[in-house]
Order: sequence, then C-alpha cells, then structure tokens
Amino acid sequence: MAPAPFTSKRAPAFADVPTEQWNDWHWQLSHRLNTVEEFEQVLRLTESERKALSTPGLFRVDVTPYFISRIDPDDPDDPIRKQIIPTAGEVDNFTGMMEDSLAEDRHSPVPGLVHRYPDRVLMLVTTQCASYCRYCTRSRIVGDPSQTFSRADFEAQIDYLKHTPQVRDVLLSGGDPLTLAPKLLEELLSRLREIEHIEIIRIGSRVPVFMPMRITSELTDMLQKYHPLWMNIHVNHPNEISQELADAADKLTRAGIPLGNQSVLLAGVNDCVHIQRDLVQKLVRIRVRPYYLYQCDLVEGAGHFRTPVAKGIEIIEGLRGHTSGFAVPTYVVDAPGGGGKIPLMPSYQISASDHKIILRNYEGYITTYEEPQDYKAHDPATCKYCQSKRMEPGQSGVSGMLDGEQMFIKPEGFDELHNRGGGQHRLRANSDKWKPLGIGDGNGDGDEQK
Ligand SMILES: *Cc1c(COP(=O)(O)O)cnc(C)c1O
Repeated sequence: MAPAPFTSKRAPAFADVPTEQWNDWHWQLSHRLNTVEEFEQVLRLTESERKALSTPGLFRVDVTPYFISRIDPDDPDDPIRKQIIPTAGEVDNFTGMMEDSLAEDRHSPVPGLVHRYPDRVLMLVTTQCASYCRYCTRSRIVGDPSQTFSRADFEAQIDYLKHTPQVRDVLLSGGDPLTLAPKLLEELLSRLREIEHIEIIRIGSRVPVFMPMRITSELTDMLQKYHPLWMNIHVNHPNEISQELADAADKLTRAGIPLGNQSVLLAGVNDCVHIQRDLVQKLVRIRVRPYYLYQCDLVEGAGHFRTPVAKGIEIIEGLRGHTSGFAVPTYVVDAPGGGGKIPLMPSYQISASDHKIILRNYEGYITTYEEPQDYKAHDPATCKYCQSKRMEPGQSGVSGMLDGEQMFIKPEGFDELHNRGGGQHRLRANSDKWKPLGIGDGNGDGDEQK
C-alpha cells in the first residue's frame, strides 16, 4: 500500500476562485497578499504582526494565496506563518548583525555574480520572489523591483564567465530565477549553455514551495533542454509539503532534474529534532534529497529566528543513523565575512593511535577500527589526476597543505610580528614554500629548501 497522500488546502477566503484560476501561476502572483486588510481576510493578525506590517521601511511582504492557505489561521505560532508574516521582532537589532553578512558584494567581480569558490559561481538573476521569507539573507537587495534583472549586468556576467574557464558550475539564484518571464529564463540558460567550460547549471528556487503551479509541462520541457541541470528547493517545515508540491517535484524529477533541499534552522519553526526528522523523511518521499541545513545568517531582520549553533548539532545527532543516510543534510554555518559554508557535525571520533581509531556510532556503541600497518601510499608523481590539478593558486587551503603546496597558513601580520630578529640570524624559517619529495623538480637529493 502506498503511504498516505499529502494534503491540499485552500483558505475559505479563496473558496470561490475557479480552479482554473487557482492553478494558474499568473493568478497566484497577481493575487498575492501584502496588506493588513488582505491578511485579515485569511488570518486573525496578532498585535505584533499588525505593528510590524505598519512599520515604514519593512522588508517586502508578499504571500501567494496558495502558500498562505497552508497556515492554520487560529495558530499564532504556525510554522509557515512565522516564515512569511512579519512580527515586531523583525525590527530588533542584535550583536553581530550585518547587512551583507556573507560579504557577497565584495566577492562580486561584476554586479550580481558572486565568485567565492574556485570552480563555481553564484549568479543573482533577479531580486523578485514569489513570496518573501522574513529571514532572507539577501534582504539588502531582494524585493526591490527597481534593482531587478538588468540586461547590461547580464552581458557583463556572461562576459566574465566566458573568460573564466575554471568555472564549471553556475548556480542561478536571486531572488528566485523561476519568477523570471519564461522567455528570459530560457535565454539565460541558452546563453550559459553556449559556454563550453560550464558543465552544470543549478537553479535555487522556492517557487515549487510558494507556487507549485508554476511547474508546468511547458516549463519542464524547456528546462530539460539545458541538461545537466540541478535544482535546490527550500522547505523548512513538513507542513510545506503538500500534494501540489509533491506533484511539482514529480514533474521536475521526471524531467531528469535532481532535486535537493536547502533549509534554514529557524527558532520557533523547525528547531526540533522530531520536526526535522519528519521533514527530511517527507522530502525523500517526494524524491527531494536534503542537501544543506543552514545556521541562520547574521542578517538584519533575522535576529529572532536565530538559535545557538548547538541546536544544529543536536539535530544532526538525531538524524544520522536514526534515519536513511541520504535524508541527512549537511549542517553548515555560512561564515560571516564571506568565508563560505562551514560544515559542522557531532564528533564520532573518540580517540586514535598510530594504528587504531576509536569511534562511536549514533547509538553510543564504541568500537575500534584497526588501521593498516602496510599502507602503500598513493603516488602523486605517477597519478595523472594529481598532475593535472585545476585549482586557482591560493585557494587550495588545508587540502593544499596536505598536498605539499604550502606548509603554513598565517594570519595577517604574522611575519612582521615574528620577524623581530630582523633577518640577521640563520635560525629562522625563511620560506612559506615547502617541496615534499617526489613532486615537481625535487628529487630527494638534498636541494630542497631547509
Ligand atoms: C553556496 C554557494 C555556492 C555553492 O556552494 P555548494 O557548496 O557547491 O553548494 C557557490 N557560491 C556561493 C557564493 C555560495 O554562497
């Protein structure tokens, strides 16, 4: 027997809307709710929500009729409600708060293109979304119709990509790329596909969640012309998984688009192991693989959503081993200041010696793994993959240290501070470079730097 179907809901206020209109994404977009009066038709607003909605300069509010219908109108703490209806907490400042907490603007060689990792870029193609998440990490630009897609920026982005051959993966985001006019979206995809070194294209979109009716056969027919294409959606709570979302995910996966999910850890929404377990299990039922669980960013407006980092560790502790391995996302902190995503997880290693490692499993069972005593080391000199690395210098990090590219990573000012001897003594480390035996010219006969 198949598992129980998912639910489909429509708030009483929309009972008279003809089904054809309800299922038309244009209708959903043009009937979004954004004023106190409109929300009052569907929910009984709290004092805090009322106050927030009348705050000047508030981050844009807009909710599709479909998505607001999934809220329990009588529950002021409804987990969907909290994501999209502002509350007074949104205007509170907090320690560490930043406007552009991921320093994306600083990593943009051309406007709208964030190049922070060696082989992939984030391309912000619009500032518009189908509905607006209150904790938006890009609230500095998102929602502003005057800042949306610009032809000149797009040409500059394409030009940069053409001249940057190390980029093999382009991630379209925004805003939400699936809110773009269909013609424009297709033009974007086809222009990217003209660039030979771009191997994969990814779309980050919450449209399947806010407005699943947008996932039409015409859309999937168009998308599948541009394979390999991947998509990440954004679901935070099991209540968001409707029959409509399940159908949209089915259409996308049948079109050959692998689906992942990125969720954000949010206080009062999904900061609970049991909610998260239900969420990831429902996601894999609709063939969406949990990809990342994000610690909430230090962004303006999101203070009241933040949890301690330990909450994320606790959630992963409750998932790994307790449910299907592919249902467990990677928990990440997107480093403030632009350091990128940093994965965190509980520690499963208890101790180690030169030939044993002591590990514990999810149940607390503690075991010994005997390490080989006769491991024949991999030889980079005869490995063609090692010989043809496709890395930009300076970004190989700790992996590069293991590779022998460099021996140290030093904080700024380190050399100045630690060069008090002024260089007249022989006893000092005089080079960052270190060549291990067997790589490059070093033949082990003693001419390496000492
Ligand atoms: C998240 C992100 C990516 C993609 O990272 P993956 O770990 O490959 O999913 C790329 N660029 C930027 C700037 C990002 O923030």
